[in-house]
Amino acid sequence: MAHDVDLLILGGGCAGLSLAMQLAQRGHRAPSTLILEQRACYLNDRTWCFWGDDTSPFAEQAAHQWTAFQVENAGQTRRLTCTDTPYRMLTAENFYRSALAAMAPLPQMHLRMASPVPTGPQYRKGRWHVETPDGPCSARSVVDTRAQRPLAPSDALMWQSFSGLEIECAQSVFDPSCVELMNFSKATSQRVGFTYVLPLSATRALVEFTVFADVPFKPEDLAMDLHSAIAQRVHGAAYTVHRLEHGILPMGLVGREAHAPSAGPGHVQVGLFAGAARPATGYAFQRIQRWAADCAHALKQGGLPIAHAQEPALRGWMDHLFLNVLRRQPALAPELFMALFAGVSTPRVIRFMGEGARLSDCAAIACALPPRPFLQQLVHRSLRP
Ligand SMILES: Cc1cc2nc3c(=O)[nH]c(=O)nc-3n(C[C@H](O)[C@H](O)[C@H](O)COP(=O)(O)OP(=O)(O)OC[C@H]3O[C@@H](n4cnc5c(N)ncnc54)[C@H](O)[C@@H]3O)c2cc1C
Repeated sequence: MAHDVDLLILGGGCAGLSLAMQLAQRGHRAPSTLILEQRACYLNDRTWCFWGDDTSPFAEQAAHQWTAFQVENAGQTRRLTCTDTPYRMLTAENFYRSALAAMAPLPQMHLRMASPVPTGPQYRKGRWHVETPDGPCSARSVVDTRAQRPLAPSDALMWQSFSGLEIECAQSVFDPSCVELMNFSKATSQRVGFTYVLPLSATRALVEFTVFADVPFKPEDLAMDLHSAIAQRVHGAAYTVHRLEHGILPMGLVGREAHAPSAGPGHVQVGLFAGAARPATGYAFQRIQRWAADCAHALKQGGLPIAHAQEPALRGWMDHLFLNVLRRQPALAPELFMALFAGVSTPRVIRFMGEGARLSDCAAIACALPPRPFLQQLVHRSLRP
């Protein structure tokens, strides 16, 4: 049992295990590491999708990939191709399996399941201490991926809530060559919803219903919309459900510093609730991979773990403006997203959605979007006391 280690990782999910896999690449030179995970076992509880070329992390482990995706609103469809950077789907079970396999041969790396850590680590005499169900542990540094507190609706500018089912249909009803990225339903003044379909074959798909709103939605709030989205696609054919998937992602954390406080030297807060997600879209997987590589590099150089990089100022400002427009007028979202997909080249859109949007991408996006709602938002903000 490892009780005193170089590095303690609180939470063995995407961020915690991504860092562990990066560290494991150093073989016997990897720091002694203990991961404390509250779950008793890993389930195939989600899929991570991202656009990436063959060199992207986890490109090879992706269970599916598509070179086309489409967006649709009010009968208008836009199909885009992404041959160089296919949209790839990694199943959680593949990811967890890779992580366990990477750590297995290394005696200095430990993953302890069913180990909830309910309190913050305490810093005493140059080391961090936590209490676990198996007794106290200490470490030189801590990477904490847990949410720091129960989240309130006001903690994010917008919330992305989704609920989905992976179904197998008795008939061929899906087009396996193309992802339905956003198929908008009629928006209301409170929320905008869209269907997202990952076609795994002509008969099998993950169908999700997603809502952007200023409050989070529980899966039961989305059940009716999800079932109607499925009904529209299966046209009355019988289907079986293989698994379900749901999530609530913050878009634009309000006061990010409050979510990612460092409790002291060598302690960092990372993950979904500490700035991992791209504010305007909620995509986080690739950003977590980049952070994990950078953090492992910092540790290799003898330094301390690092947190997620702040958004570059212009992109951060644009994201917040975009989210504030959506928050005030969710019904505009279909028009804005359709304008984005119609007016900006696919590689730029892909960088905007996920990781690494450049200055020129931001400029192209600003030119493609209708200016009026953004100017209104700027005026609204400047008039606010
Ligand atoms: C269903 C779903 C699908 C998603 N799909 C995509 C996608 O397609 N593309 C994309 O880019 N992003 C996606 N995301 C967003 C993001 O990539 C994921 O949320 C990702 O898992 C975030 O990583 P994380 O480490 O912050 O959180 P998690 O992966 O949730 O890991 C946190 C871990 O901490 C553990 N934990 C929590 N509290 C404690 C405690 N007190 N003690 C010990 N352990 C604790 C949890 O059990 C969990 O294992 C998705 C999110 C969800 C929920």
